[in-house]
Amino acid sequence: MTKSDTKIGTVMAVQANFYQVRLDEGETLLCTRPTRLKKMGQRVLVGDRIYVKSTEFERGAIASVTPRKTELERPPIANADQILLVFALEEPTLDPLQLSRFLVKAESTNLKLLLGLNKADLISQKQREQWQEKLKLWGYDPYFFSVEKQQGIETIKTALKDKITIFSGPSGVGKSSLTSLLIPQLTIRIGEVSGKLQKGKHTTRHVELFEMPQGGYIADSPGFNQPDFDCTSQNLINYFPEARQKLSQGQCKFNDCLHQEEPECVVTGEWERYEYYLRFLEEILAQEEKIAHTRDAESSVKKMVKDSGEVCNEPKLNTKKYRRVSRRLSHQKLEELYNHQTLEEEDYFND
Ligand code: GDP
Repeated sequence: MTKSDTKIGTVMAVQANFYQVRLDEGETLLCTRPTRLKKMGQRVLVGDRIYVKSTEFERGAIASVTPRKTELERPPIANADQILLVFALEEPTLDPLQLSRFLVKAESTNLKLLLGLNKADLISQKQREQWQEKLKLWGYDPYFFSVEKQQGIETIKTALKDKITIFSGPSGVGKSSLTSLLIPQLTIRIGEVSGKLQKGKHTTRHVELFEMPQGGYIADSPGFNQPDFDCTSQNLINYFPEARQKLSQGQCKFNDCLHQEEPECVVTGEWERYEYYLRFLEEILAQEEKIAHTRDAESSVKKMVKDSGEVCNEPKLNTKKYRRVSRRLSHQKLEELYNHQTLEEEDYFND
């Protein structure tokens, strides 16, 4: 098949084994991924630019996937350009600690980050200036806007034009209201999708693109609306722009410095969010320790059930050193491995 038989489009949504594809020429096709691509291990993600061979009745088959500009794993999305993190200035009151959690999470994707503060109609000019000053110290220059009063919306439209933008932020801040304002014909659908999603099993992994009339897409995924950290203790500092700046100007004495109280650390000191950094670091270190313990426990002991029915942990013997593996067992293991892998591949392909 040559490229001339095919048309190019963008994957808008994935459901079961079907891909909803918006062709550049305007039509929407429901596409399948041929076995050939599956065998090659070629994943297809929402946001992918793909060539499709159209068949009849608005159906098509994916011919190939073009190289990705960016790729996120959780939730799975290709070619996203930026994140618009939305918070409300009031109702609910803007909490600097919660805002920082979301900022760190968004920074850890390494995508361009835009910060939008909605409900500007609920605060005074003075309060607005105070937030502006504070956030400048953190390294951010937010958009202040009000969906309700339709203020500051044009600047946001310009920033989103022709881009794939992930909307992120806690609930109640006005993400749906902003989306409805930017894509008026979507109002009803968003409500329906969100309703469905909240009941869905793989909620945080679901992603869907919505096309804006002026060009560009909004990516909607509940997965971005959870403030869980997605980084290591060593990386955390890089997701605070004000600390990043200190690190670009000097170097800590120790390569693995965690910027707690180590000697000759260039980060430790007087900056407003330093206490947030320490707090998040503590949480991440605790998570890492828990994971390490689970791994240790899994690898060095096995559960044994005694004749009495009592369950106990026994140290595992090192297979190579102390035990010969029977042929039957190794055959069984291979079969298990094969089945396990096939299942995993199916999950992977169904992502
Ligand atoms: P989401 O959960 O982030 O999608 O938030 P919604 O879009 O559902 O909005 C939550 C509430 O905030 C709704 O009652 C909206 O009417 C209200 N809201 C949205 N934008 C504004 C705004 O600019 N000003 C004010 N005062 N209320 C707003």
